Amino acid sequence: MSADDDFFINFDAKKLSEADLGRLIEHHNRCYWEKGEQEIPDERYDELLRALEKINPEHPLVLAVHAPKVAAIGKVTHAKPMLSLNKAYSLEDVLGWAGKCIRNEDELLLIQPKYDGISANFANGVLATRGDGEIGENISDKIPLIELETTNYKGALKRPARGEIVIRDDDFKTIYQNIARKGGRAYKNSRNAVAGIMGLKDISDMLRQKAKLTLVDYDMISYSIPFKQLSTEWPRIIAELEALPYPMDGIVIKLADSAYSDSLGNTAHHPRGQIAFKFSGIRQESPLLNVQWSFGKNCLTPVAEIEPVDIGGITIRHATLHNVQNIIDRDIHIGDIVTVERAGDVIPYIVSAKPGEHRKVALIERCPCCNTVLKRSGPELCCPNHDCFETRVQRLCASVRNIGIERLGEPNIRRMMQVLGVRTLKDIFKLTMIDILKLEGFKEKSASNLLNEIKSARSVNDFQVLAALNIPNIGVNVAKAILTAHTIQELRKLSIEKLSEINGIGPERAGAISRELAAQKEILDELLECVEVKQTKGTGSANLPKICFTGKMPEQRGYYEDLAKQKGYEAVDSVTQDLALLVAADVSASGGKLDKARKSNIKIIALEDWLKSGKAEPIADDPAPDSVEKSTAASEESSTGIPKKQGFFNF
Ligand SMILES: [Zn+2]
Repeated sequence: MSADDDFFINFDAKKLSEADLGRLIEHHNRCYWEKGEQEIPDERYDELLRALEKINPEHPLVLAVHAPKVAAIGKVTHAKPMLSLNKAYSLEDVLGWAGKCIRNEDELLLIQPKYDGISANFANGVLATRGDGEIGENISDKIPLIELETTNYKGALKRPARGEIVIRDDDFKTIYQNIARKGGRAYKNSRNAVAGIMGLKDISDMLRQKAKLTLVDYDMISYSIPFKQLSTEWPRIIAELEALPYPMDGIVIKLADSAYSDSLGNTAHHPRGQIAFKFSGIRQESPLLNVQWSFGKNCLTPVAEIEPVDIGGITIRHATLHNVQNIIDRDIHIGDIVTVERAGDVIPYIVSAKPGEHRKVALIERCPCCNTVLKRSGPELCCPNHDCFETRVQRLCASVRNIGIERLGEPNIRRMMQVLGVRTLKDIFKLTMIDILKLEGFKEKSASNLLNEIKSARSVNDFQVLAALNIPNIGVNVAKAILTAHTIQELRKLSIEKLSEINGIGPERAGAISRELAAQKEILDELLECVEVKQTKGTGSANLPKICFTGKMPEQRGYYEDLAKQKGYEAVDSVTQDLALLVAADVSASGGKLDKARKSNIKIIALEDWLKSGKAEPIADDPAPDSVEKSTAASEESSTGIPKKQGFFNF
């Protein structure tokens, strides 16, 4: 790498002078708009711009943000200026801005996509870029290439509109695969293609190749919500907007009352009544260095190992890829440039990928632990070998959690398996002081503590025993529901038909229960010999899902507990494995109950959402960490596939 590359690419924006920031931005503007080649990801470019804006908000480069060099046929003075928007990089920024503008909590806000293209205005038959906001470039010669999409209209550019010239994602995937730019190569991405085409003096070649661009009217897609719902609706709206077929780099939030918004006026460069939230605050691009496969009790979860990036002050090295189907659908290879997102409390995940120069297959065919050929199960990849050590570790860990030996974690379970030959829960219950002292790190005191913990777990609810068998989709809550109607011994004799009649079980789970109870007959018998089972059936502890509250809430706790009872829950004080729901005043806070619930993958819900929700479900879903998800790759907001600290395998 040359010294120049180092200066232009490996910079620390916060340490650069105004002059150097200017040099860098100009360089990257040239790369982007003139050469159509991007040397740094958008996020890095934004870092430069933010740093420069901080030093000198009036800098011409700040003012001319993303103003592309277009091949124009003259200048156009805008009747109403096209100002650029002030930027926000977090929800807190957005709320801070809104707090200054709104008249009350019910003030309506509009949320619209922030398209990633070229801003343009079409009026009186003239198409013009934003330019500096006052005077734009006349690009009317490009009109034959552009289709207008506005409210209730899609067709030739014949109606006045203010919006963004983009290439729709679907068009880019189809039409643009066959469009050659000068030199014969295809465009790398839709933004480069827009810039490239708008920079052409002569579009006849593009017309011949049937290139198509779209002017999307800013107001065509718009969500209207009151301010007080902004925080809770935020993730859903972002997810829905992102599913639209237009390139975007953020969203725009504006006051719905345009007269009021206008009355607030403008700062030097930005209207006060609008703000743009940039995805770059929650996203970064980074090369995918490797894919590690994290073992779960039923399947393997791919975890991306990326070159470390900083998002919101946290260094991200790993991000979940959810499952194998997701890798296939997104055509992700090692060596690609992936976009990782970290928003709120969700585990960082890979949003998208761009092909890298040296690509290596990310998929595996054989189990990294036992070399058995892996099998697909829905979107997941599973090791079918019952003796696979890593799978057994994870299954035993899950059993230990479900049976309630809380302080026995994975590292010690792993040691017990390696050193003492432990295979099942029964073996753990039979451990002696002498055994435990053989394990690394144990002294008499700690060994005796662990033994006591194991001993106290001998007194156990029958649903914990059933959940400890690791039958797919039978977690503690489902097990409890089943054992309210039948005892374990009755359950073993029930037909699949009878089983599936239990409320909420259905034929699929019934089949799995019947099959596994037979397959694990000996394991269950041995386990039942070691433990003292408390029977659920007939104890009157009805089949109510447990709910727990945490955090400072507007009303007394008793108020919510009564409400919970009305909704069909049993309110409890602590977070246990069989808890169905934790209601939090602040879901993003940390603390005892919240941390514990996150660790145990117990569903956490914000108080306001819970208040809006209906009655409790008769049977909650299995909260087990790697329960197979119904939805597959498309669910970007899904938070399954927790990267585990242990059990990584590299290739
Ligand atoms: Zn295996």
